[in-house]
Formats: sequence, C-alpha cells, structure tokens
Amino acid sequence: MAVLITDSCINCDACIEECPATAIVSADESPLENGEYTYVKPEKCIECVDAAVPKCADVCPTEDCIVWDMPYIAEYNDYFVFSDRYVIREHKKKGLMSPDVNPMPWRESIPMEQREMNVSVGQTLKLYN
Ligand code: SF4
Ligand code: SF4
Repeated sequence: MAVLITDSCINCDACIEECPATAIVSADESPLENGEYTYVKPEKCIECVDAAVPKCADVCPTEDCIVWDMPYIAEYNDYFVFSDRYVIREHKKKGLMSPDVNPMPWRESIPMEQREMNVSVGQTLKLYN
C-alpha cells in the first residue's frame, strides 16, 4: 500500500476520481466478500509519492477515515496476501500481483510504527511530510 479506507467511510466516492493510480473502487466493486466501503487496491496504490499529500486523503470529507498501512514491498508479502483486509488481483499472465512480484512505491518518511498502528494519513502528514 499503501493506504487503507476504514469503516468511517461514508461511501461518497470523492476519492475515486482523484487517485492518479486508479487504485480506488467503490463499495459495489470491492473485491472483498461483502465489502461495505470504498476500497483501495494495495497492488495499485503508489502512496502519491510524487505529490505533496495523498490525493485520496486530501479530498476525503471524513476525518481520519484513510489510514496508513504497511508498504507494498516483499517484506510484507504475507501480510497482504493473507490479510482479510485485502484481495490481491490475479493477473491472467503474471499471476498474483503480490508485493514480492509487483512491489509499489511508498513514502519512506512515514515511520513503520505509525503504519503498524494504522495512524490517519492526515495526522501523520502534518508531522512527517
Ligand atoms: S494514496 Fe494516492 S495512489 Fe494511493 S489510493 Fe490514495 S490517491 Fe490513490
Ligand atoms: S472520500 Fe473518504 S468518505 Fe468518501 S469514499 Fe473516499 S474514503 Fe470514503
């Protein structure tokens, strides 16, 4: 990832259009079984590394709705592949787009402890950006 949309999401879908990586889908298109909320695909999220702030969190009207999760890199492969928070896309030719096959850019400025605690993106950017 990645960033994670939590259950305080109101499904306004405002973040979907803002994402430069087309990583966000509405609840209707969530790959999670019984997915109730707008969903970020960690295998596509680039953490908006080239922008001042993640676009999704910038536009979100719900405070602290979008939180950090672990970087989408090989070190966290099992976390993403076996988590019930995510369903990673299976590519027809390349297979599962797991972190060890398809690592994504991530913001090294965000401390791992903050990611482990799923701290709000809005809060951490004030401190670490
Ligand atoms: S952090 Fe950026 S790339 Fe990731 S879901 Fe949000 S808008 Fe998309
Ligand atoms: S902008 Fe925020 S509240 Fe709206 S769908 Fe996205 S995460 Fe949910």
